[in-house]
Amino acid sequence: MRIDIIAIFPGMFAPILNESIVKRAQKKGKVKIYIHDLRSYSLDKHRKVDDRPFGGGSGMLMRPEPIFAAVEDVKSKSKNQKAKVILLCPQGEKLTQKLAKKIAKYQHLILICGHYEGVDERVRQRLVDEEVSIGDYVLTGGELPAMVLVDAVARLLPGVLGDKNSLNFESFEDNLLEHPHYTRPANFRGMGVPSVLLSGDHKKIESWREKEALKRTKQKRPDLLG
Ligand code: SAM
Repeated sequence: MRIDIIAIFPGMFAPILNESIVKRAQKKGKVKIYIHDLRSYSLDKHRKVDDRPFGGGSGMLMRPEPIFAAVEDVKSKSKNQKAKVILLCPQGEKLTQKLAKKIAKYQHLILICGHYEGVDERVRQRLVDEEVSIGDYVLTGGELPAMVLVDAVARLLPGVLGDKNSLNFESFEDNLLEHPHYTRPANFRGMGVPSVLLSGDHKKIESWREKEALKRTKQKRPDLLG
């Protein structure tokens, strides 16, 4: 997969992209990530990318020209017409594991990070294929949401996680939250571990985990069970 990220704060990405699973995914050649400074596509000599909204109102908006120029440039360089252009936006489809799985199947993503009051509507109308929100709250910019999306997607790419089974038993698989986990020591400050987990009986362990996953989902996220 190739991911191009267009942002006005390109320096925000390094700490996330150069650590942990996303770093490993890049090292293994499973994903190539390119960061583009939107300001370098500005037509303004001060590299401005925002302007006042027509009709008045508070705040500034991102002008369409630099965003169109950046996306068109990325598309022309990658020569991949199948690129999906995704706008990070609080009004978009809420990011879920299901949506992350769908996006993980794309070959090429171009992520647009908004700022200020957001982007000129014509970006949405002409350039954007999908809008993704990471939740019902408003952040300052699209950089953090883009990183959340990249992390959620990169770990789903085949061959990225060491043990591919870990994906099958995670929260939100089969609309369930994951069962509780315990590690050593077996007794910590008087708190033990359910004896079934120490029994070595894999059938019993599996059925305990299934029951606990259901119990936990009923308690914490009954909405997942429909
Ligand atoms: N005025 C916009 C509104 O009310 O919908 C909010 C703009 S927000 C301050 C600036 C940018 O941050 C957005 O254009 C978007 O790129 C990003 N952003 C903020 N919250 C987000 C969220 N929950 N999910 C995805 N992107 C978000």
